Amino acid sequence: MDSSDSSHNTEPPHPQELLCQALAEIVGEENVLLKEPLAKHTTFKVGGPAALFVIPSGINQTQAILDLLSEQGAPSFILGRGSDLVVSDEGFPGVVVDLSQQLTDVSVEGTELVAQAGVSLIDASEMAAALSLSGLEFACGIPGTIGGAIYMNAGAYEGCIADVLKTATVRFADGTVHTLTNEELNFGYRMSKVRAEKLCVLSATFELTTAPFEKIRAKMEDYTRRREEKQPLDLPSAGSVFKRPPGYFAGKLIGDAGLSGFRIGGIQVSEKHNGFIVNVGGGTASEVLAVVKHVQAEVRKQFGVELEPEIQFLGSF
Ligand SMILES: Cc1cc2nc3c(=O)[nH]c(=O)nc-3n(C[C@H](O)[C@H](O)[C@H](O)COP(=O)(O)OP(=O)(O)OC[C@H]3O[C@@H](n4cnc5c(N)ncnc54)[C@H](O)[C@@H]3O)c2cc1C
Repeated sequence: MDSSDSSHNTEPPHPQELLCQALAEIVGEENVLLKEPLAKHTTFKVGGPAALFVIPSGINQTQAILDLLSEQGAPSFILGRGSDLVVSDEGFPGVVVDLSQQLTDVSVEGTELVAQAGVSLIDASEMAAALSLSGLEFACGIPGTIGGAIYMNAGAYEGCIADVLKTATVRFADGTVHTLTNEELNFGYRMSKVRAEKLCVLSATFELTTAPFEKIRAKMEDYTRRREEKQPLDLPSAGSVFKRPPGYFAGKLIGDAGLSGFRIGGIQVSEKHNGFIVNVGGGTASEVLAVVKHVQAEVRKQFGVELEPEIQFLGSF
């Protein structure tokens, strides 16, 4: 008889196996992945595997997953498009909940755009433009989700999420769901209540204004041209690595410190935009951290300015 016959296996199931089964009951087996490489799910293309990776379809499944994870006390992480993220080379020993793949419903009524958390910000801004709705032009080159953008009040050029968001429906750690107004979301520079209190964004409503299509498109084309000219969009990265220090520009300080092109292994301070750190091939998360630390130390030493990372680190470093 096959020694793997379960009738002869007296070992109790591992807790992770039980969790995996319970997750599969919610989302279906095909949407629960074991040891999924997170490098595949981040724009930096670094990082090890998630112990479990789950892809909910819709808000009810997301709620059921988060209820289960909190009941079990399982460590978890909400993933958007991974465009602001550096995952440890050892990966994440918990459950990654990927909202970017199937929480993607979006609709427009009048001047309001309603989107689930996983909708791509770029798609939302394209959709608004196509309907002659102005307000999301700034977002046309930000490769994240609505949820990730609300988390950090993403912004570019003269706009940011706080300027156009009307409400967001969020889940609190105790499992309750509330629709918060823009004011209640306490937006600041790369900050929000979602980030400060580790809430989960489920959906959001944006209040836009009508404007001529050509005017909206011209703005988006201008932003895209400026990005293409100044940013190393051909290489994996997580965008600007550091927040803007009051009174300075991070990229200028880094360049002035002589760090343009500074490289450790496969990770380099971009020569095209010194505020970006790029993966020039085979880079690792520990190399990203080493470059970040070196840049911080040099800028502190030469200019007495503290650079605070804007990007998120997940797992142990
Ligand atoms: C080439 C490039 C250009 C960029 N340009 C800009 C720019 O101009 N302006 C700018 O602000 N950013 C920019 N970024 C950074 C990034 O795109 C934004 O920060 C984006 O908002 C991150 O969204 P995400 O879905 O990828 O989040 P992720 O990277 O997946 O996650 C980031 C954080 O958000 C949290 N999060 C994600 N979804 C949710 C949710 N539903 N509820 C609660 N928390 C959530 C995660 O848990 C994590 O802590 C750029 C990045 C790249 C690669």
